[in-house]
Amino acid sequence: MIYKGVFMALKIWLDGKLVDEADARISVFDHGLLYGDGVFEGIRVYSGKIFKLDAHIKRLYQSAKVIRLEIPLSQSKLVNAIEKTVEANGVIDGYIRLVVTRGTGNLGLNPFVCEKSIIFIIADNIQLYPEELYETGMKVISATTVRNHPLAIPPQVKSLNYLNNILAKIEALDSNVPEAIMYNHEGYVAEATGDNVFIVRNGVIYTPPVEAGALEGITRGVVIRLAKEENLEVVEKNLTRFDLYICDEFFLTGTAAEVIGVVEIDGRVIGDGTPGTVTKLLRKRFFEYAHGREK
Ligand code: PMP
Repeated sequence: MIYKGVFMALKIWLDGKLVDEADARISVFDHGLLYGDGVFEGIRVYSGKIFKLDAHIKRLYQSAKVIRLEIPLSQSKLVNAIEKTVEANGVIDGYIRLVVTRGTGNLGLNPFVCEKSIIFIIADNIQLYPEELYETGMKVISATTVRNHPLAIPPQVKSLNYLNNILAKIEALDSNVPEAIMYNHEGYVAEATGDNVFIVRNGVIYTPPVEAGALEGITRGVVIRLAKEENLEVVEKNLTRFDLYICDEFFLTGTAAEVIGVVEIDGRVIGDGTPGTVTKLLRKRFFEYAHGREK
């Protein structure tokens, strides 16, 4: 971590203890590494408070249940470990990565030969996108890589295997834009590679339902609530590429990105080419809510 221009080694919580970054090592036989067999969460710390920790813990245990992974720690002990890690690293505004891997096994796929799952927690600083991108808004493309089919690894599982989304991200980077929109196997909008999708049309906010293949984003949930508090109508419905091309406003939500406007997709300019008023309002409301500065 860089703190006030000085590099400081992090303390990592690994398998029950806080250890120096250099000593935080896991086996090359860990199935998290060999097969992407594991689950994770990305969590924010705002003004010294861990943001929506309960919701993240719930999603982690749900993801683990779906992949038949036992987390060898009670939810309250895990919360305690996260708090200790944040404290040990003096994180006030930052990001926590909480990872549970299947643990050390052999070269076969069988997850049940792994002795016990491994938990590690990193608490550090983060800035996903430069500040000016929030002012100007970002350009995106439609990815050709289709979001995970619901009968494959369910899209609601936040697993360690992000290769499908990484392929879409590569498509974006090849096109010199930071993000890509992923569609599901039926051609409906699912989400971005690491964020949920929202559009605004005629004053109404639309977002794809989770069943369209989105991860049920915690930021998404907060933004829907804040929008309703502002008396804005929010409709969850299947969206097509056409809907994205002709909308008035477009924004993405996610733990790392927060609320960020999209101003162009596949060469089609959205609105007047700058983040719209609803986007800016929700970004501001999200900031106030996250930092506990609500009126
Ligand atoms: N979709 C995907 C694929 C994600 O990885 C994430 C988290 N980065 C999100 C959506 C947003 O979810 P959250 O708001 O809970 O971070």
